[in-house]
Amino acid sequence: MASAALLRACLEVIHFSGASQILRATLRGKGSIFCLHHVCPGGGLQTGFAPNSKLEVTPKFLEQIILLSRKHGLETVSIAEAARRITTPKPNDKPFVVFTLDDGYKDNQIYAQPIFDRLNCPYTVFVAPNIANGTCELWWRALEHIIAQNEHLKLTTPQFVCDIKTKTEAQKSAAWNKLSVVIAALPELAQRTAIRALAKAYDFNLEKLCLSVAMTWDEIRAINKDPLCTIGAHTMNHYSVKKLTSEQCTYELTQSKLEIERELGEPVQFFAYPYGDEPAAGPRDFAIAHKAGYLASVTTRKGVVFEDHKNHMQALPRIMVSGRYQKLRYIDALISGAPTALLNRMSKVNVS
Ligand SMILES: [Zn+2]
Repeated sequence: MASAALLRACLEVIHFSGASQILRATLRGKGSIFCLHHVCPGGGLQTGFAPNSKLEVTPKFLEQIILLSRKHGLETVSIAEAARRITTPKPNDKPFVVFTLDDGYKDNQIYAQPIFDRLNCPYTVFVAPNIANGTCELWWRALEHIIAQNEHLKLTTPQFVCDIKTKTEAQKSAAWNKLSVVIAALPELAQRTAIRALAKAYDFNLEKLCLSVAMTWDEIRAINKDPLCTIGAHTMNHYSVKKLTSEQCTYELTQSKLEIERELGEPVQFFAYPYGDEPAAGPRDFAIAHKAGYLASVTTRKGVVFEDHKNHMQALPRIMVSGRYQKLRYIDALISGAPTALLNRMSKVNVS
């Protein structure tokens, strides 16, 4: 069984067995931090070749998650309030849920902000300055477009060699499965060189892609005027920081903070590690985030937030909301803490 299907089956069992209700009281911890990317009509529901659709959810699903969280007695709070409840808890603090959106896409402002505003729900958008500037390659989206638009990819670069038919849907999926793994595994600078070579060979404009999906600085300033919105940092270039040297990692974390602060004229106190899983960010990077002056940083290590996280504020877990799991019963099971407790072998903190 594929891992996605296996996880879906686990979530179904946990939901329908009633286990999530029983376990909820002990395993849900202090709260949950959701990780989203795109919010747009039809998001994640595409049929055919659309490998990045997992990064999209519909506005309706976002609204349903907010309402479901509140139904379970979770308070929708800002990331600053969640950080306060973790570091300096008060007896009357209720369990919380935080909504975060990574990368700073235009659809956040067009489709997500009106929902957050209507439901009075705080949210955080993590911005990478060079995505806003249009100079970040967004290699995963570029690769999807290049495969979708061509019938054969043939290229030799110092980073990789490919000679793959991409005519049928099955061929496109197979090409994605192969090339996305090869490109993701490259060192960060080589990865960007490789996608630039592929884009050049197939006449694909990376800057146009980036500018078409990313919020401009004016748009970021506009969304930041919303009292419910917090802007956080997400590195300069959307690099997997664990693959960088300490100096490069320090630059990405400190410079992104400085540039966003300069653009917005206010402090930036929160950070999200790009990709955010174990291969993308580790203990060295958590220490650098602390030194860079962030109050808290979020990963995509799977889990809910427990009391022990007060000692690991630069490595908070999140729950990824996937476009391929747009069923409330999956979210219901995830915020119970039960699936991630099983995944983490009942360990509450996963920071090593
Ligand atoms: Zn990101």
